[in-house]
Amino acid sequence: MKLLNPPLMSIEASTRIDWFIRLRWLAVVGVLAFAAFGRILLQLQFAVMPFVFVAVLIALYNTGFLLLVRRTRLVDKWGDGFASIQVGVDILVLTVLMHLGGGIENPFVSYYLFHTIIAAILLPWQKVCIQVLLASVCIAGLAIAELTGVLAHRNIEGFLPVEFYSDWKFVVVAVFSIITTLFVSAFLAASITQRLHKREKQLSQANIILAEQDRMKSRYVMRVAHDLAEPAGMITSCLRLVTQGLTGPIPEKAMDMVQRAQRKSEYLGQLVKDLLSLSRIKAAREIPKTEVKLSEVIGQVFEELQPHVLEKKLVLEQKLPAALPAIYGNAEAIHELLGNLVANAVKYTLVDGRVEVSASNTDDKILVKVQDNGVGIPVEAVEHIFEEFYRADNVKAEAIEGTGLGLSIVKQILDTHSGEIWVESEQDKGTTFSFTLPIAGQSHA
Ligand code: ADP
Repeated sequence: MKLLNPPLMSIEASTRIDWFIRLRWLAVVGVLAFAAFGRILLQLQFAVMPFVFVAVLIALYNTGFLLLVRRTRLVDKWGDGFASIQVGVDILVLTVLMHLGGGIENPFVSYYLFHTIIAAILLPWQKVCIQVLLASVCIAGLAIAELTGVLAHRNIEGFLPVEFYSDWKFVVVAVFSIITTLFVSAFLAASITQRLHKREKQLSQANIILAEQDRMKSRYVMRVAHDLAEPAGMITSCLRLVTQGLTGPIPEKAMDMVQRAQRKSEYLGQLVKDLLSLSRIKAAREIPKTEVKLSEVIGQVFEELQPHVLEKKLVLEQKLPAALPAIYGNAEAIHELLGNLVANAVKYTLVDGRVEVSASNTDDKILVKVQDNGVGIPVEAVEHIFEEFYRADNVKAEAIEGTGLGLSIVKQILDTHSGEIWVESEQDKGTTFSFTLPIAGQSHA
């Protein structure tokens, strides 16, 4: 299998290195805990202080790494080189610990595997090989140095009945098995990481293609909706002339039929309008944004809805703080977003009800609430209301007309503005939609 140089470090270099540093604090605690455990519980005879020194040493160099990460841009500039140094230093310190704990007889010799696997996940294959080679040289060097007496073997009394470190056959077999295990594990971990990385890349490319296809589909719907808008509008106008009696008297039965046709053509007109809005937002990659004053948009929306408000004798109010910052967004889209929410509140509130739009802000966001005391949303419907064409049973039962697209448009608009929306509702008590939009003048990279 061909292992490429994976650019894994560049993806989440700082996250991975942060994780690495956190893991090393655990190692500090582990060294101290194992030393205490061996000495007190297992009653093994060995000097504890060298282990304490090594634990302090690990803590010190980990603090150094932490400061380098936080105070410098080393990770960005030198991502995998920095990780390589960390793994290398860890391997050297682990070798010191191995020597303190009985050299090749130390059962924790398998801990070299952790470094190998971490290196294989973090680093390009050549650098993984260097780390595994370093670990192999350290293990073999330590075993040979103790075997030949170059380095005094530190025996852990009370642990092994026989001393193996001086038996060359044991040393050869043990060193060979450890080194081969390290290389095979590194190869396996690196190839799995490679595959995952390749799959991730394929998925993100597939995502880009899907998004483009979705945009093409939306552009198609947009064209169809655009072509339907004019005849639908024309049919409604003609029927209105008839129902208003401007074309002369017609029989009562015929009038009833024409009125029904008019209602349906109005619904058709609204459906085409909503489809056009939704597909237009979906088809756009980006929409131009500027500073938008919320109070102005609310004023326009209230004016447009005035006939319905009067007809239903509703109280329509806005409560905005005097110094509310401007929104960073697309004026037309924000108008449509608020228009849909307030129109819904008016539509789903019964005669003599109340609709209120209020806003507040944090450092970087504006929170807007559209509150009504209308029919509310049944609990089981709440999770579906942002789905296209979804309408809750209670409003269908009340025969309140709608296309089921208004909230999908709202959601799409908020997505293009990095905004969020949520709803609180109780059936027959009322509904509050809350949404956030970014404040103008912040960094909107
Ligand atoms: P519609 O054209 O049906 O209003 P929307 O997408 O705007 O479509 O809303 C989807 C559904 O969410 C509505 O059919 C209704 O069931 C529910 N809904 C939305 N706003 C309100 C509200 N203010 N009060 C009660 N129900 C609401």
